[in-house]
Amino acid sequence: MTVKIAKLLLATVLLAGCASTNLQPVTSGTYQPLPEEKRINRACEAEQRRLTDSEMIYANPKLSAYLNAVAMKVLPGEARNKVAIEIRVINNPYCNAFAYPNAKVYVHTGILARMENEAQLATLLGHEMAHVTHRHLLRERRSIRNKAAGLASFKATLGSVPLVGELSSALGELGTMASISGYSKELETEADNVGLEWMVAAGYDPRESPKLFEHLMAEMEEEDQDEPFFFGSHPKLADRQANYQRFIAERGYPQGGTVNRAIYEKAVAPAIYETARLDLKAGRYAKAEKGIQRYLQIDPRSGRAHYLLGEVYRQRNHRDDIQNAIKHLLRASKLDRQHAATYRSIGIVYMSQKDKKAARQAFRSYLKFAPQAMDREFILEYIRQLE
Ligand SMILES: [Zn+2]
Repeated sequence: MTVKIAKLLLATVLLAGCASTNLQPVTSGTYQPLPEEKRINRACEAEQRRLTDSEMIYANPKLSAYLNAVAMKVLPGEARNKVAIEIRVINNPYCNAFAYPNAKVYVHTGILARMENEAQLATLLGHEMAHVTHRHLLRERRSIRNKAAGLASFKATLGSVPLVGELSSALGELGTMASISGYSKELETEADNVGLEWMVAAGYDPRESPKLFEHLMAEMEEEDQDEPFFFGSHPKLADRQANYQRFIAERGYPQGGTVNRAIYEKAVAPAIYETARLDLKAGRYAKAEKGIQRYLQIDPRSGRAHYLLGEVYRQRNHRDDIQNAIKHLLRASKLDRQHAATYRSIGIVYMSQKDKKAARQAFRSYLKFAPQAMDREFILEYIRQLE
C-alpha cells in the first residue's frame, strides 16, 4: 500500500510542474476527455473489478434502482449524457461514500443507515457526482497540495480502523484517493456547493443538507475519532456544515421542498438491517440495537429483525437483556417459524436459565429446521446433557 501511494505521489509531483489544474467541467461546451483521463478511467475499471471480486459489494437490485433514480433526479440534464453515473453499494458499517472519476459512485450501507430521508441522500449523491463532473480526481492529481499531509494521515488511520484496512486493500490507488484521503479544501467545498445547487434545483429541501454532517459527527463521537476518515476529511466537518448553512442563506434558497422520509426508509431498510448485523458481529451493541429498532419501525413484522434484536440482547447480557432477548427471540419464532438460528439462540438462553425442558425443545426445533447444521454434534451433546 505504502509503496503504491509513494509511486502515486511521485507521479503527481512530476505531473504537477506542467499540467494545468484549471479544467472545465464536463458540462462545458468544449469538453473532451483528455488522454490522461481515458487512462485513469481504464485504471478505475480495473480497480472496480477487484472491488466486485472482493465480495464487498452489496447487491440488492431494488435498492440500487432507488439510489440510481434519486441520482438521476439530482444530476442536471446537461450532465446526464456526458457522464454515465452509476450508484453502487458497499457492505460496510462506517459512514462513507466516494466517486471514481469514471462516474461509478460507491455508497456504504453504514451511511444509508444513518441518513433520515431522500433530501439528505440527494445532498450526498450531489456532492459525489460533482466530484465526477468537475473532474476533481484529475485536478487533485495535478496539484501537489496536501499530499504530504494526506500521506501522513493515511498511515495513521489505515492500520487502526477495523474494516478500513480491508477496504483500502481492495481499492487501488484511485479508490483510496477518492474514498479515504479525500480532496483539497477547495475541491470539497466546490463539490458541496455544486451538489447543493443541484439538489435544490431538483426540488429538495435544502434545510436537510447540513444535517448530513450531524450523522458524520455522531459517528465520530461514537467511534471516538478526531475527524472522520471518510467523506473527505478536509475541511473539517463543522466548517463544511457552516459552509452549507452560509451558502443556503446567501443564495436565498427556498425554506422547504421534497424530503421523502417514508419512501427513503422503505427503500434503504435492507441497508439498515445489514449495518445492524455488521455492528452486532463487531460487538457494537448500542449501535446494533439502535439500528435494528429503526428497522423494526419500518418493518415491525420481520422475524429476522426480531431475531437480530434478540441476539443483540443475548450477546450483550446486561441487566434486563436476557428478558428482552427471550421476548424478541420468541416473537421471531412466531413470525418466521422456519428460521433455524432463532431456536438455537432460544435454546442457549433457556439453558443458561436452567430451564432444561424448554432448552431441549428449542434445540430439537433447531435441528429439525437445520438438519445439516455445522454444530449438529455440539447441539446433540447439549440435548444429552439436558436430559
Ligand atoms: Zn468529497
